Amino acid sequence: MSTTATNDSRRDQLALLGGPGTVKAAAPENWQHGPNEIGKEEIAACTAALRAKVLFRFGRDAENSTVTQFERLFAKKTNVSHVLAVNSGTSALICALIGVGVSQGDEVIVPAYTYIATAAAVLALGAIPVLAEIDESLTIDPRDIERKITSRTKAIIPVHMRGVTCDMDSIMKVARQHGLKVVEDCAQANGALYRGEPVGSIGDVGAFSLQHFKIITSGEGGAITTKDRTIFGRAAVYHDAAYAFWMEGKAAPDAIEEWKAMCFLGENYRQSELHGALALAQLGKRDRILDRTRSIKRKLWAACEAIPGARMEASNDREGDCGISLAFLMPTSPQAVQVYDALRAEGAFAGTIFSKQIPNRHIYYHWDYIMGKRTPHTNGFPWSVGGKETNVKYTADMCPRTIDLLERTVVMPITQIMTDSYVDDVVAAIVKVARLL
Ligand SMILES: *Cc1c(COP(=O)(O)O)cnc(C)c1O
Repeated sequence: MSTTATNDSRRDQLALLGGPGTVKAAAPENWQHGPNEIGKEEIAACTAALRAKVLFRFGRDAENSTVTQFERLFAKKTNVSHVLAVNSGTSALICALIGVGVSQGDEVIVPAYTYIATAAAVLALGAIPVLAEIDESLTIDPRDIERKITSRTKAIIPVHMRGVTCDMDSIMKVARQHGLKVVEDCAQANGALYRGEPVGSIGDVGAFSLQHFKIITSGEGGAITTKDRTIFGRAAVYHDAAYAFWMEGKAAPDAIEEWKAMCFLGENYRQSELHGALALAQLGKRDRILDRTRSIKRKLWAACEAIPGARMEASNDREGDCGISLAFLMPTSPQAVQVYDALRAEGAFAGTIFSKQIPNRHIYYHWDYIMGKRTPHTNGFPWSVGGKETNVKYTADMCPRTIDLLERTVVMPITQIMTDSYVDDVVAAIVKVARLL
């Protein structure tokens, strides 16, 4: 306790201990990114799509299709040759996994901290998710990936969580050494850069989500990004039951021949023209959103560094991360709780990822159907095939390092609509907590 906090200087006391709160400016009402930007551009784009009265992407020529326009702009921004728009992040992951040739019974390594959909997409193909620990960046630990590789491993899904990039150099090295494919899950990191390269252009393929809670949104939606023509072709063929047929006259004849030759079972993960219109309008706003969130994160980061005992998230690229949240680790879980309680009492928004009360479906042991090995198949597939059980097991304590790190983490969400005065007040709150706690 600071010696300056005397009875007659209550002003200089933590709000947690009865002092006045620091944050006076209004907090954002809604912490989302894309939805806060919906304005005249989105309304005009959707209205134009409705006026055209063709909501089927293959019902329009390529030049007029909003979905095609989105794909072209997204390819340019992501520095890849191929983009396929789909109807969700989950379907993007499924198509990406099909693209790299993941098959039934293959093992795919996923982080123990990610949204449940990452592991669910693996299961949807009849492949088996194998969990790896995270490191102090709160993204997958490349050293643990190496420990989890077996003769059945086919691919790795590094997930750029909370806009923070994974250690892609180490992950690509491990993957190349073992002949594994890399599917980047970029659902939470649209626009992030790793050493100057856009995420989604580093692994074999990237999967993005345009769902409501992501950085830009079309309500629901997604996309895959790749530089590999065959991966794209396989994903495209799978995403539409008649892809080569619809593309007749819309792509180069040799590409159509290639898709016809590889043609296999397809489903329907198409994006509609209305979603394409929204996605395209939002994509035009993405980099401005990120400029703002990154600049706010730099300010909060500098203040948080002064909190005694705090260890800032081990960022793999501080310039390139999206800046949509900030995390730091305290030495113990009670200390993390104390810091976020103190910040909240000052009026700053902070929390922990870990909560015993709220089952956070980003933490593996809350993935109930995976822990319980439940799929729609009544015969135990894919963990059991032909009556034979696989060796893959799941227990609540199987990733102790992930639990330890998440228990000690304090997170502060960041949105582009935080005003300068709100940011200044939050910085003042952090400075006060750092000095007095
Ligand atoms: C949101 C999310 C997904 C799934 O995206 P949907 O569009 O909701 O299907 C996958 N992975 C991560 C890390 C996500 O945050």
